[in-house]
Amino acid sequence: MTLDLPPLEPWRVFMVLAGPFVGTLAATWAVAWPRLPRPLWGGSSCARCGTSAPLWRQVPLLSWALSKGGRGCCDGKIPWSYPLGEAAGLVVGLISGLLTADWTEGTLRYLLGVTLIYLSLVDLRRYVIPVQAIAVVALLGGAEHVVRGDCAALGEGLLAGGVTAAMFEALRRLSSRLRGVPVLGLGDSLLAGGLAVWLGQDAALMVAVAAGGALLVRISLARRITPSFGWALSAAALGLL
Ligand SMILES: [Zn+2]
Repeated sequence: MTLDLPPLEPWRVFMVLAGPFVGTLAATWAVAWPRLPRPLWGGSSCARCGTSAPLWRQVPLLSWALSKGGRGCCDGKIPWSYPLGEAAGLVVGLISGLLTADWTEGTLRYLLGVTLIYLSLVDLRRYVIPVQAIAVVALLGGAEHVVRGDCAALGEGLLAGGVTAAMFEALRRLSSRLRGVPVLGLGDSLLAGGLAVWLGQDAALMVAVAAGGALLVRISLARRITPSFGWALSAAALGLL
């Protein structure tokens, strides 16, 4: 199999290189949720003891690997959200920089990817998906259709979003009635709807099936039911972008 890579224009190189740094930013915001991080842009000092970090400690992934996950300045570990967010940021950078047709499409996918990283990390940490992030996902999906001037796709996407969210919601209520506790959260239903605006109905169903598979793997590994599903939906959607 050969992969036809596009010519390496500066914006493509920038997106790939910036990916892990943007992942750090998404992790910083997710760790601070429901509050805003201080400072808003960049966490160059230790959140625990306040010591400012040397330059090498601000290099994503590498600094985490070199310090074996330790903070260095004080006792304790760097939250796992950071290396996970940085690795996901690298993937989003590669997808947006190398697998998109033009700058506009690349930028919209980049913004979607970063939003998905943020909401997945919040979901994994707190079992909640921030509703603002779901709104951003749906708006970016609508914007992609508008930018391409594809009104039919926009209509289909909005319809798919409504149908998918309603299907998830029905499943959530049914599981709640049968098991006493719902297997999904309202945020999962809304996120599935938001992603369907991007992907359309068929792909949205594929994402739901793939996410269900990912969730089963995680449950079997962890030997307990995890109430978060948003990270699995996000990962499956990123794979389809
Ligand atoms: Zn410290």
